[in-house]
Amino acid sequence: MGVLAVVPAAGDGTRLAAGMAKALVRLGGVPLVVRAVDGLLASGAVDAVVVAVRAVDLDLVRDMLAGRDRVEVVVGGSDRTSSVRAALDHGLAEYPVTGTVLVHDAARALTPVSLVAELVAAVTAGARAVIPVLPLADTVKEVGPDACVRATVDRSVLRAVQTPQAFDVVTLRRAYAAAAEQGAPGATDDAGLVERLGEPVCTIPGDPLAFKITTPWDLRLAEMLVGAK
Ligand code: C5P
Repeated sequence: MGVLAVVPAAGDGTRLAAGMAKALVRLGGVPLVVRAVDGLLASGAVDAVVVAVRAVDLDLVRDMLAGRDRVEVVVGGSDRTSSVRAALDHGLAEYPVTGTVLVHDAARALTPVSLVAELVAAVTAGARAVIPVLPLADTVKEVGPDACVRATVDRSVLRAVQTPQAFDVVTLRRAYAAAAEQGAPGATDDAGLVERLGEPVCTIPGDPLAFKITTPWDLRLAEMLVGAK
């Protein structure tokens, strides 16, 4: 078994305010989590997928993903890191991969399959951790609690980070083991845990289509993109 993908989909989608878990929201009639999983499978670079969902959604998501080989659904946790951990533990027990693990947000439902394949190829070629990034278009400022500007940040060295994030399996396991041992707070992405090990995290160019559907505006944009296809 070469490549396992882990899909955290247990967020409650508060910012989307759709009245259901964000992963269940339909885009062009297809739930975001189904689009995310099918995109990973369509890349041809992924051998198995484990999805983490809210306990209340377990049966529903299992039904949505029924009929797909090597796709499993488990219960996630109270934050993203614990959801990834639950899916990772299950996935590595069921599918003892020796190569690459991808971690991919269900909310990035329109991620191009070519990006998935590029990330897997980068780890296969020897990188321990590779993430897709985009430069920032806007000027970025640090703002204080008084809503006034403290400083202007040099945006030329900043990047917005997307998923999938790709890791050599040993490195990601070590990162999650260290985080559990230290009782450290969860990270907003998995590369953050690898950085805490002092291991290099490399970047490749991301894709605007891999944007995270977070707000009602993002969902409208995604609907337009799907409609335009
Ligand atoms: O909240 P945010 O948009 O950063 O979540 C990113 C991804 O992590 C989403 O796909 C969401 O479903 C997932 N998540 C999770 N478990 C949580 C919180 C978020 O799997 N407890």
